[in-house]
Amino acid sequence: MKYIYLDNAATMPINNSVLNKMIEYAKYYGNPSSIHQAGREARKLLDKSRAVIAGILGANTNEIYFSSGGTESANWALVGAAFANADKGKHIITSPIEHHAVINTCENLKKHGYEITYIPVDKYGKVDIDAIKKAIKKDTILISIMYANNEVGTLQPVYEIAKIASEHGVLFHTDAVQAVSNVPINLGELGADMLSLSAHKFAGPKGVGALYIKKGTKISPFIYGGEQERGRRAGTENVLGAVGMAEALKIACTDIMGSGANIASKRDRLINGIIDSIDGAQLNGHPTMRLPGNVNISFKNTLAQSLLMRLDSAGIAASAGSACASGSPEVSHVLLSMGVPREKAKGSIRLTLSCNTTNEDIDYVLGVMPTIVKECRSSAI
Ligand code: PLP
Repeated sequence: MKYIYLDNAATMPINNSVLNKMIEYAKYYGNPSSIHQAGREARKLLDKSRAVIAGILGANTNEIYFSSGGTESANWALVGAAFANADKGKHIITSPIEHHAVINTCENLKKHGYEITYIPVDKYGKVDIDAIKKAIKKDTILISIMYANNEVGTLQPVYEIAKIASEHGVLFHTDAVQAVSNVPINLGELGADMLSLSAHKFAGPKGVGALYIKKGTKISPFIYGGEQERGRRAGTENVLGAVGMAEALKIACTDIMGSGANIASKRDRLINGIIDSIDGAQLNGHPTMRLPGNVNISFKNTLAQSLLMRLDSAGIAASAGSACASGSPEVSHVLLSMGVPREKAKGSIRLTLSCNTTNEDIDYVLGVMPTIVKECRSSAI
Protein backbone atom coordinates (compact mmCIF):
# COMPACT_ATOMS: atom_id res chain seq x y z
CA MET A 1 0.00 0.00 0.00
CA LYS A 2 1.30 3.42 -0.96
CA TYR A 3 1.99 5.95 1.78
CA ILE A 4 2.66 9.51 0.72
CA TYR A 5 3.39 11.97 3.47
CA LEU A 6 2.23 15.44 2.46
CA ASP A 7 1.98 17.01 5.91
CA ASN A 8 5.54 18.27 6.21
CA ALA A 9 4.41 21.66 7.56
CA ALA A 10 2.97 19.84 10.60
CA THR A 11 6.20 18.00 11.19
CA MET A 12 8.87 16.17 9.24
CA PRO A 13 10.21 12.68 9.75
CA ILE A 14 13.58 12.94 11.44
CA ASN A 15 16.49 12.81 9.00
CA ASN A 16 18.47 9.54 9.32
CA SER A 17 21.83 11.29 9.63
CA VAL A 18 20.37 13.47 12.40
CA LEU A 19 19.07 10.42 14.22
CA ASN A 20 22.40 8.61 13.86
CA LYS A 21 24.28 11.63 15.15
CA MET A 22 21.95 11.87 18.15
CA ILE A 23 22.42 8.16 18.90
CA GLU A 24 26.19 8.60 18.61
CA TYR A 25 26.20 11.58 20.97
CA ALA A 26 23.70 10.16 23.48
CA LYS A 27 26.66 8.86 25.47
CA TYR A 28 27.50 12.42 26.50
CA TYR A 29 25.19 12.43 29.47
CA GLY A 30 26.73 15.24 31.51
CA ASN A 31 24.91 18.29 32.78
CA PRO A 32 26.45 21.29 30.98
CA SER A 33 26.44 23.21 34.28
CA SER A 34 28.69 20.64 35.99
CA ILE A 35 32.35 21.48 36.21
CA HIS A 36 33.67 17.91 35.91
CA GLN A 37 34.67 16.24 32.67
CA ALA A 38 31.21 14.86 31.75
CA GLY A 39 29.74 18.32 32.29
CA ARG A 40 32.45 20.00 30.25
CA GLU A 41 31.92 17.59 27.37
CA ALA A 42 28.18 18.33 27.35
CA ARG A 43 28.86 22.08 27.51
CA LYS A 44 31.19 21.78 24.53
CA LEU A 45 28.48 20.01 22.51
CA LEU A 46 25.91 22.63 23.44
CA ASP A 47 28.23 25.51 22.54
CA LYS A 48 29.21 23.88 19.28
CA SER A 49 25.57 23.31 18.31
CA ARG A 50 24.77 26.94 19.13
CA ALA A 51 27.70 28.11 17.00
CA VAL A 52 26.61 25.96 14.04
CA ILE A 53 23.03 27.33 14.18
CA ALA A 54 24.25 30.92 14.58
CA GLY A 55 26.67 30.50 11.66
CA ILE A 56 23.96 29.19 9.32
CA LEU A 57 21.51 31.95 10.27
CA GLY A 58 24.08 34.75 10.15
CA ALA A 59 23.81 35.53 13.87
CA ASN A 60 26.36 35.79 16.64
CA THR A 61 26.66 32.65 18.74
CA ASN A 62 25.56 34.43 21.91
CA GLU A 63 22.36 35.61 20.18
CA ILE A 64 20.93 32.05 19.93
CA TYR A 65 18.96 30.74 22.94
CA PHE A 66 17.68 27.17 23.01
CA SER A 67 14.02 26.54 23.87
CA SER A 68 11.55 23.66 23.77
CA GLY A 69 10.27 24.63 20.31
CA GLY A 70 8.43 27.22 18.26
CA THR A 71 5.61 27.73 20.73
CA GLU A 72 7.91 28.49 23.63
CA SER A 73 10.12 30.76 21.52
CA ALA A 74 7.15 32.82 20.32
CA ASN A 75 5.68 33.01 23.84
CA TRP A 76 9.03 34.12 25.20
CA ALA A 77 9.56 36.75 22.49
CA LEU A 78 6.13 38.31 23.07
CA VAL A 79 5.79 38.04 26.83
CA GLY A 80 9.47 38.75 27.46
CA ALA A 81 9.49 41.86 25.28
CA ALA A 82 6.10 43.01 26.63
CA PHE A 83 7.14 42.75 30.26
CA ALA A 84 10.63 44.19 29.79
CA ASN A 85 9.35 47.22 27.87
CA ALA A 86 6.14 47.95 29.79
CA ASP A 87 7.60 51.22 31.06
CA LYS A 88 7.74 52.43 27.45
CA GLY A 89 4.26 51.30 26.45
CA LYS A 90 1.81 48.43 26.19
CA HIS A 91 0.85 48.41 22.52
CA ILE A 92 1.67 45.43 20.30
CA ILE A 93 1.07 45.02 16.57
CA THR A 94 0.53 41.62 14.95
CA SER A 95 -1.61 39.98 12.27
CA PRO A 96 -4.76 37.86 12.40
CA ILE A 97 -3.10 35.02 10.46
CA GLU A 98 -0.37 34.25 13.00
CA HIS A 99 -0.02 30.78 14.49
CA HIS A 100 -1.94 30.32 17.74
CA ALA A 101 1.41 30.39 19.56
CA VAL A 102 1.39 34.13 18.80
CA ILE A 103 -2.34 34.93 18.72
CA ASN A 104 -3.18 33.23 22.00
CA THR A 105 -0.16 34.80 23.69
CA CYS A 106 -1.35 38.22 22.50
CA GLU A 107 -4.86 37.51 23.74
CA ASN A 108 -3.42 36.57 27.12
CA LEU A 109 -1.34 39.75 27.21
CA LYS A 110 -4.58 41.69 26.77
CA LYS A 111 -5.64 40.40 30.20
CA HIS A 112 -2.49 42.06 31.57
CA GLY A 113 -3.43 45.45 30.17
CA TYR A 114 -1.70 45.25 26.78
CA GLU A 115 -3.41 46.58 23.66
CA ILE A 116 -3.18 44.43 20.55
CA THR A 117 -3.69 45.70 16.99
CA TYR A 118 -4.29 43.06 14.32
CA ILE A 119 -3.16 44.33 10.91
CA PRO A 120 -5.43 43.09 8.09
CA VAL A 121 -4.13 40.89 5.29
CA ASP A 122 -5.10 40.91 1.61
CA LYS A 123 -6.74 38.05 -0.29
CA TYR A 124 -3.35 36.35 -0.62
CA GLY A 125 -2.65 36.52 3.11
CA LYS A 126 -0.06 39.31 2.85
CA VAL A 127 -0.01 41.95 5.58
CA ASP A 128 -0.66 45.56 4.68
CA ILE A 129 2.61 47.46 5.19
CA ASP A 130 0.92 50.87 5.19
CA ALA A 131 -1.49 49.71 7.85
CA ILE A 132 1.49 48.71 10.00
CA LYS A 133 3.00 52.18 9.59
CA LYS A 134 -0.31 53.81 10.48
CA ALA A 135 -0.84 51.56 13.50
CA ILE A 136 2.43 52.54 15.19
CA LYS A 137 1.81 54.82 18.16
CA LYS A 138 3.94 56.43 20.85
CA ASP A 139 3.36 53.46 23.15
CA THR A 140 3.98 50.72 20.54
CA ILE A 141 6.71 48.43 21.83
CA LEU A 142 6.58 45.39 19.57
CA ILE A 143 5.60 44.19 16.10
CA SER A 144 5.26 40.42 15.62
CA ILE A 145 4.62 39.24 12.06
CA MET A 146 5.33 35.72 10.87
CA TYR A 147 7.94 35.13 8.14
CA ALA A 148 5.80 32.56 6.32
CA ASN A 149 2.29 31.40 7.02
CA ASN A 150 1.91 27.79 8.08
CA GLU A 151 -1.48 27.24 6.41
CA VAL A 152 -1.27 29.00 3.05
CA GLY A 153 2.50 29.45 2.80
CA THR A 154 2.42 33.18 2.00
CA LEU A 155 5.73 34.93 2.64
CA GLN A 156 5.51 38.26 4.42
CA PRO A 157 7.54 41.39 3.59
CA VAL A 158 9.63 40.91 6.75
CA TYR A 159 12.60 43.00 5.54
CA GLU A 160 10.34 46.02 5.07
CA ILE A 161 8.64 45.44 8.41
CA ALA A 162 12.01 45.16 10.19
CA LYS A 163 13.03 48.48 8.64
CA ILE A 164 9.81 50.22 9.68
CA ALA A 165 10.10 48.84 13.21
CA SER A 166 13.69 49.97 13.55
CA GLU A 167 12.90 53.47 12.20
CA HIS A 168 10.25 53.82 14.91
CA GLY A 169 12.32 52.33 17.71
CA VAL A 170 9.90 49.39 17.99
CA LEU A 171 11.04 45.79 18.50
CA PHE A 172 10.32 43.29 15.72
CA HIS A 173 9.78 39.56 16.27
CA THR A 174 9.18 37.16 13.42
CA ASP A 175 7.84 33.64 13.83
CA ALA A 176 10.05 31.91 11.26
CA VAL A 177 9.10 28.37 12.25
CA GLN A 178 7.93 27.59 8.69
CA ALA A 179 10.51 29.72 6.92
CA VAL A 180 13.77 28.44 8.39
CA SER A 181 15.28 25.86 5.99
CA ASN A 182 12.81 26.84 3.24
CA VAL A 183 14.07 30.35 2.52
CA PRO A 184 17.61 31.62 3.08
CA ILE A 185 17.80 33.69 6.25
CA ASN A 186 20.60 36.01 7.22
CA LEU A 187 19.82 37.59 10.55
CA GLY A 188 22.51 40.23 10.15
CA GLU A 189 20.77 41.49 7.02
CA LEU A 190 17.16 40.92 8.11
CA GLY A 191 17.33 43.32 11.01
CA ALA A 192 14.73 41.53 13.17
CA ASP A 193 15.25 41.77 16.93
CA MET A 194 13.88 38.30 17.61
CA LEU A 195 13.19 35.23 15.48
CA SER A 196 11.61 31.91 16.47
CA LEU A 197 12.51 28.53 15.01
CA SER A 198 11.70 24.89 15.70
CA ALA A 199 13.80 21.81 14.85
CA HIS A 200 11.03 19.34 13.95
CA LYS A 201 9.97 21.53 11.01
CA PHE A 202 13.29 20.83 9.28
CA ALA A 203 13.67 17.11 9.99
CA GLY A 204 15.21 17.57 13.42
CA PRO A 205 13.93 16.23 16.73
CA LYS A 206 10.70 17.42 18.34
CA GLY A 207 10.70 19.46 21.54
CA VAL A 208 13.67 21.68 20.73
CA GLY A 209 13.84 25.08 19.11
CA ALA A 210 15.53 28.40 19.53
CA LEU A 211 14.90 32.08 19.91
CA TYR A 212 17.29 34.49 18.27
CA ILE A 213 17.62 37.61 20.40
CA LYS A 214 19.63 40.40 18.84
CA LYS A 215 22.34 41.76 21.13
CA GLY A 216 20.98 44.61 23.22
CA THR A 217 17.29 43.62 22.94
CA LYS A 218 15.36 44.27 26.14
CA ILE A 219 13.59 41.02 27.01
CA SER A 220 12.67 39.35 30.30
CA PRO A 221 13.19 35.64 30.93
CA PHE A 222 10.13 33.49 30.29
CA ILE A 223 11.18 30.51 32.40
CA TYR A 224 12.71 31.25 35.79
CA GLY A 225 15.12 29.07 37.72
CA GLY A 226 18.84 28.46 37.28
CA GLU A 227 21.34 30.45 35.30
CA GLN A 228 21.22 28.36 32.11
CA GLU A 229 21.22 30.10 28.72
CA ARG A 230 23.08 33.06 30.22
CA GLY A 231 20.43 33.53 32.89
CA ARG A 232 17.66 34.06 30.35
CA ARG A 233 16.07 30.60 30.03
CA ALA A 234 16.31 28.35 33.05
CA GLY A 235 16.31 24.55 33.05
CA THR A 236 18.93 21.91 32.31
CA GLU A 237 19.65 22.19 28.62
CA ASN A 238 18.43 19.65 26.05
CA VAL A 239 21.95 18.91 24.80
CA LEU A 240 21.00 16.04 22.54
CA GLY A 241 18.13 18.09 21.10
CA ALA A 242 20.53 20.93 20.37
CA VAL A 243 22.96 18.54 18.65
CA GLY A 244 20.11 17.15 16.52
CA MET A 245 18.80 20.60 15.71
CA ALA A 246 22.21 21.86 14.55
CA GLU A 247 22.75 18.80 12.37
CA ALA A 248 19.24 19.04 10.88
CA LEU A 249 19.69 22.73 10.06
CA LYS A 250 23.08 22.07 8.50
CA ILE A 251 21.64 19.37 6.24
CA ALA A 252 18.46 21.32 5.39
CA CYS A 253 20.38 24.47 4.46
CA THR A 254 23.23 22.86 2.50
CA ASP A 255 21.58 23.61 -0.84
CA ILE A 256 18.57 25.67 0.19
CA MET A 257 18.09 27.35 -3.21
CA GLY A 258 18.47 24.17 -5.27
CA SER A 259 16.29 22.14 -2.97
CA GLY A 260 13.69 24.94 -2.77
CA ALA A 261 13.50 25.19 -6.57
CA ASN A 262 13.14 21.44 -6.86
CA ILE A 263 10.31 21.27 -4.31
CA ALA A 264 8.62 24.35 -5.83
CA SER A 265 8.52 22.77 -9.28
CA LYS A 266 6.70 19.73 -7.84
CA ARG A 267 4.42 22.07 -5.87
CA ASP A 268 3.49 23.96 -9.02
CA ARG A 269 2.84 20.73 -10.93
CA LEU A 270 0.54 19.60 -8.12
CA ILE A 271 -1.29 22.94 -7.97
CA ASN A 272 -1.75 23.22 -11.72
CA GLY A 273 -2.69 19.57 -12.07
CA ILE A 274 -5.42 19.85 -9.44
CA ILE A 275 -6.81 23.15 -10.71
CA ASP A 276 -6.85 21.88 -14.31
CA SER A 277 -8.53 18.58 -13.54
CA ILE A 278 -11.07 19.53 -10.86
CA ASP A 279 -13.88 22.06 -11.30
CA GLY A 280 -14.30 24.47 -8.43
CA ALA A 281 -10.76 23.96 -7.09
CA GLN A 282 -9.03 27.20 -6.13
CA LEU A 283 -5.57 27.95 -4.75
CA ASN A 284 -5.33 29.76 -1.42
CA GLY A 285 -2.35 31.97 -0.63
CA HIS A 286 -0.04 33.94 -2.88
CA PRO A 287 0.54 32.44 -6.35
CA THR A 288 4.31 33.04 -6.26
CA MET A 289 5.37 34.49 -2.90
CA ARG A 290 4.77 31.25 -1.07
CA LEU A 291 6.75 28.52 0.64
CA PRO A 292 8.24 26.07 -1.87
CA GLY A 293 6.35 23.11 -0.43
CA ASN A 294 2.94 24.62 0.32
CA VAL A 295 -0.25 23.73 -1.56
CA ASN A 296 -3.54 24.93 -0.05
CA ILE A 297 -6.67 24.42 -2.09
CA SER A 298 -10.39 25.00 -1.57
CA PHE A 299 -12.68 22.45 -3.19
CA LYS A 300 -16.14 23.87 -3.71
CA ASN A 301 -18.97 21.82 -2.13
CA THR A 302 -16.76 19.57 -0.03
CA LEU A 303 -15.74 19.26 3.60
CA ALA A 304 -12.07 19.08 4.54
CA GLN A 305 -12.58 16.27 7.06
CA SER A 306 -14.23 14.10 4.46
CA LEU A 307 -11.49 14.83 1.89
CA LEU A 308 -8.78 14.06 4.45
CA MET A 309 -10.35 10.74 5.44
CA ARG A 310 -10.57 9.63 1.83
CA LEU A 311 -7.03 10.80 1.11
CA ASP A 312 -5.85 8.88 4.17
CA SER A 313 -7.57 5.72 2.89
CA ALA A 314 -5.75 6.24 -0.39
CA GLY A 315 -2.44 6.44 1.52
CA ILE A 316 -2.03 10.21 1.39
CA ALA A 317 -1.39 12.17 4.59
CA ALA A 318 -2.62 15.77 4.33
CA SER A 319 -4.23 18.26 6.69
CA ALA A 320 -6.79 21.00 7.02
CA GLY A 321 -4.50 23.94 7.71
CA SER A 322 -2.72 23.96 11.00
CA ALA A 323 -2.01 20.61 12.68
CA CYS A 324 -2.73 22.08 16.11
CA ALA A 325 -6.25 23.01 15.02
CA SER A 326 -7.04 19.98 12.87
CA GLY A 327 -8.62 18.10 15.76
CA SER A 328 -11.27 20.79 16.08
CA PRO A 329 -14.08 21.47 13.60
CA GLU A 330 -13.27 25.19 13.59
CA VAL A 331 -12.81 26.87 10.25
CA SER A 332 -9.32 28.23 9.57
CA HIS A 333 -8.83 31.69 11.07
CA VAL A 334 -6.23 32.29 8.37
CA LEU A 335 -8.59 31.68 5.45
CA LEU A 336 -11.37 33.70 7.06
CA SER A 337 -8.96 36.61 7.62
CA MET A 338 -8.04 36.46 3.94
CA GLY A 339 -11.71 36.90 3.06
CA VAL A 340 -12.31 33.30 1.94
CA PRO A 341 -16.05 32.63 2.47
CA ARG A 342 -16.77 30.26 5.37
CA GLU A 343 -18.39 27.62 3.11
CA LYS A 344 -15.32 27.56 0.88
CA ALA A 345 -12.91 27.56 3.80
CA LYS A 346 -14.63 24.45 5.17
CA GLY A 347 -13.57 22.52 2.05
CA SER A 348 -9.90 23.58 2.11
CA ILE A 349 -6.95 21.29 2.60
CA ARG A 350 -3.19 21.70 2.86
CA LEU A 351 -0.69 19.41 1.15
CA THR A 352 2.90 20.17 2.11
CA LEU A 353 5.84 18.72 0.19
CA SER A 354 9.44 18.20 1.24
CA CYS A 355 12.68 17.14 -0.41
CA ASN A 356 11.48 13.56 0.14
CA THR A 357 8.46 14.09 -2.17
CA THR A 358 8.96 12.45 -5.55
CA ASN A 359 7.46 13.10 -8.99
CA GLU A 360 5.77 9.70 -8.70
CA ASP A 361 4.10 10.90 -5.48
CA ILE A 362 2.71 13.91 -7.33
CA ASP A 363 1.48 11.72 -10.21
CA TYR A 364 -0.27 9.43 -7.74
CA VAL A 365 -2.01 12.31 -5.93
CA LEU A 366 -3.06 13.86 -9.24
CA GLY A 367 -4.40 10.48 -10.30
CA VAL A 368 -6.64 9.88 -7.27
CA MET A 369 -7.67 13.43 -6.41
CA PRO A 370 -10.49 13.95 -8.97
CA THR A 371 -12.26 10.76 -7.84
CA ILE A 372 -11.86 11.64 -4.16
CA VAL A 373 -13.34 15.10 -4.66
CA LYS A 374 -16.17 13.67 -6.77
CA GLU A 375 -16.99 11.11 -4.06
CA CYS A 376 -17.00 13.82 -1.38
CA ARG A 377 -19.33 15.98 -3.43
CA SER A 378 -21.78 13.19 -4.13
CA SER A 379 -21.84 11.94 -0.53
CA ALA A 380 -24.17 14.82 0.46
CA ILE A 381 -22.34 17.15 2.79
N1 PLP B 1 4.64 28.89 14.54
C1 PLP B 1 4.33 28.34 13.35
C2 PLP B 1 4.21 29.22 12.14
C3 PLP B 1 4.11 26.97 13.23
O1 PLP B 1 3.80 26.44 12.05
C4 PLP B 1 4.23 26.16 14.41
C5 PLP B 1 3.94 24.72 14.34
O2 PLP B 1 3.11 24.27 13.57
C6 PLP B 1 4.59 26.77 15.62
C7 PLP B 1 4.78 28.14 15.65
C8 PLP B 1 4.76 25.97 16.87
O3 PLP B 1 5.97 25.25 16.83
P1 PLP B 1 6.20 24.00 17.78
O4 PLP B 1 5.40 22.88 17.21
O5 PLP B 1 7.67 23.73 17.71
O6 PLP B 1 5.78 24.39 19.14
